[in-house]
Amino acid sequence: MKKHKDHSDKNESEPDLHKNTRDPISLDKSKELTNYFRREAKKFISPEDFIDTGTLTDKNRYFHELSLTDPIHRALSEQGYRNPTPIQIKVIPVALQGKDILATAQTGSGKTAAFALPIIQRIEARKTRGRSFPRALIVSPTRELASQIGENIKKYAWYTRVRQVTVYGGVSKIPQTRQLKKGKDIIVATPGRLHDLITEGVVELDRIETLVLDEADRMLDMGFIDSILELILMIPDTSQIMLFSATMPQQIVDLANKVLVKPAIISADPPASPVDSIASSVFFVEQDDKFSLLSHIITTEGIKKALVFMKTKHSADRLVKKLRKDRIRSDAIHGDKAQHLREKTLKNFKSGDIPVLVATDVAALGIDVNNITHIINFDMPAEAEMYIHRIGRTGRVGKKGIAYNFCAERERHYLVGIEQLIGQHLKRAENYPFMSQIPVPEKTDLSEKRK
Ligand code: AMP
Repeated sequence: MKKHKDHSDKNESEPDLHKNTRDPISLDKSKELTNYFRREAKKFISPEDFIDTGTLTDKNRYFHELSLTDPIHRALSEQGYRNPTPIQIKVIPVALQGKDILATAQTGSGKTAAFALPIIQRIEARKTRGRSFPRALIVSPTRELASQIGENIKKYAWYTRVRQVTVYGGVSKIPQTRQLKKGKDIIVATPGRLHDLITEGVVELDRIETLVLDEADRMLDMGFIDSILELILMIPDTSQIMLFSATMPQQIVDLANKVLVKPAIISADPPASPVDSIASSVFFVEQDDKFSLLSHIITTEGIKKALVFMKTKHSADRLVKKLRKDRIRSDAIHGDKAQHLREKTLKNFKSGDIPVLVATDVAALGIDVNNITHIINFDMPAEAEMYIHRIGRTGRVGKKGIAYNFCAERERHYLVGIEQLIGQHLKRAENYPFMSQIPVPEKTDLSEKRK
């Protein structure tokens, strides 16, 4: 039963933002409301609200302080999780109460467990015999991220009766449909495949209790806003919605104001910025010598887990061939590879069978592999922001990482852009073979710092 408030004494042109339930609005109505909310959004949540100075970020907090049940504790200790991360400390108690949440959290902060553990626990508490039906839906922008979330949920829910299915495009629908038909409690999905499965009647959302929009900023960048609004109209208006985003552009604030009901606004201290927690150095080396330098570094430093970034798919494949000739086990991951091959490669890299993974930007972002020790920018990133995304693949959850940047003469202006963006100079590597004969450039003028 949907609860409706009595709006009789309200001005019809002002939707009540602080109501406790969502009205079952139609798509047209939703569009009509959008403009109103856009105008009004700032009054309710503004990016400045995201300053959270709670005392909950103390280092030595424990999972048992977070009201989690034994089966979940057991799974966490098997994963080797000792202490909850700041985002987990803040999100878990609120999410267990079923409240809407708007959280700023980066990949690597432990956000998956922050939303997944309460979902699993709440479903388990009310699970009855008989066929399962979807009670929680987690939407993520990329296949890789969806698949990682699904894998994590499987581990966290190991000692419960809660079961998940992950659905994404690029692979056959048949096994996914078969899984869905068996009855699952949690669906992890990318927007495109989810849309198809809903249209085909394989997924029904009428009994969803929790919706998570993960990496909401990326979903909006990728043009998924309409699919998201449609989803929200399909779930019961009493559902809990948790919106996680790495950044808080106005668009996300607008979305939050539109779809969340009295949200808890949570921003845990972000993990130390990759720029500070990663030792990054630059090697001035010309394009033709880069491979020799790479091979030299991998062998002499005995590198165990390196992610090497290349500009193009072809050059990634060529590099793998050359590395293999030098007896360095490696493989490539990029958009031209079939999904099952990408997954296999990632699995081998995760397990340590392949110490060197060569990747293009698109394929590598969202990859969550523990203990990557080195990021090697074989080709410098043309976009300065991409440098931060790339090096963020190492040094996850408080671990230290190393980044090596191979900079040819024609890429030196990229280095300037990066140093101006991060507001500091990268360390210049010293005493290495294959050093460029072209004199090392002057240090970047940081007073030109970009926003
Ligand atoms: P996420 O931000 O959810 O992608 O998590 C990043 C990585 O941190 C994943 O490999 C998780 O398995 C790991 N992780 C999450 N929570 C914890 C924790 N409390 N302690 C240690 N590792 C964690």
